[in-house]
Amino acid sequence: MSVRPYREIHRRKCRKIMVGNVPVGGDAPITVQTMTNTLTHDVDATVAQIRTCEEAGVDIIRVSCPDEESTAALKHIVRQVKVPIVADIHFHYKRAIEAAEAGAACLRINPGNIGSAERVREVVKAARDHGCSMRIGVNAGSLERDLLEKYGEPCPEAMVESALDHARILEDNDFFEFKISVKASDVFLAVAAYQALADACDYPLHVGVTEAGGLRSGTVKSAIGMGSLLWAGIGDTIRVSLSAEPAEEVRVGFDILKSLGLRHRGVNVISCPSCARQNFNVIETVSILEQRLAHISTPMSLSIIGCVVNGPGEARETDIGFTGGGNNTHQVYLNGAQAHRLKDEDIVAHLVKLVEEKAARIEAEKAALEQAAAAQAVAAE
Ligand code: SF4
Repeated sequence: MSVRPYREIHRRKCRKIMVGNVPVGGDAPITVQTMTNTLTHDVDATVAQIRTCEEAGVDIIRVSCPDEESTAALKHIVRQVKVPIVADIHFHYKRAIEAAEAGAACLRINPGNIGSAERVREVVKAARDHGCSMRIGVNAGSLERDLLEKYGEPCPEAMVESALDHARILEDNDFFEFKISVKASDVFLAVAAYQALADACDYPLHVGVTEAGGLRSGTVKSAIGMGSLLWAGIGDTIRVSLSAEPAEEVRVGFDILKSLGLRHRGVNVISCPSCARQNFNVIETVSILEQRLAHISTPMSLSIIGCVVNGPGEARETDIGFTGGGNNTHQVYLNGAQAHRLKDEDIVAHLVKLVEEKAARIEAEKAALEQAAAAQAVAAE
């Protein structure tokens, strides 16, 4: 009997834009974003925070530019980091122009909020001259007064109408290099707004549940809201919005994408909750391993299971498996097959070594393949 494919996600077809050198939309991988929370004019602190996020794998970072001091600092920040920077602008069109000149890769700005058509033209010109894309960011909490009067309350229809109104202003200026977000802190509202927007346009969508909460509650809320959208193929770039360090938002973003098989980065740990049958301390081991393996970016799966009830089965499906055995006879599996035994005192150090060695092998193979492809391309010229 054939098994129906049950892991497929069909991504919504949309345009592709560039945020610096990072593609968003089309067939590009779904990217993970966050936002700095340092004072932007404190260049050293902002650069340090961006670098921490880069280590966590962030693809794009947004930086607030509320004043001239911030756009002046942006120039120095952009030079010191690798990821493209989105300048977050509210209302002040001059900040947008300054940010574009300072090297921002994208401007987060709602063209309907910056005043005259002339100002919009100036911002669009600056974006075009400096290779900036834009993001229209509609938020349920700051909808235009006329839409609130028309619809009575923030609702998906009002949010989509707001987004399309802003989009039309850019289209009228012959500018199409933008993505759109329609965020709300209410999961139902955010999901419904994104679903309606996904049907109404073919622009890439920046997906997020805004002001989702603290690390745990916000992660759950984001996973439900963004997870259901991503599962339905909606979303080209994501930002998890937590009252937590930006690097945590990045890690949670990747975990959401990993859960759906949409991005693979780092070690995907499969572990059991543990119970009276556990033959080693599963919770403590997993907690230490997650910290010790945080630096690994190579995609790989690792199962850590307390006993033979589920251990061998999970190990068969993972790159590296570890199952607790009685009398200190724990079993290591490599590529699904039994490899060797391990004692309590060796568990963490040995598993870290196995993962690091495997990551190094995979990266070396990848580099060799890339080198061979490059040599082939030169030979074909
Ligand atoms: S795999 Fe074993 S130790 Fe882990 S929860 Fe299940 S029965 Fe308990």
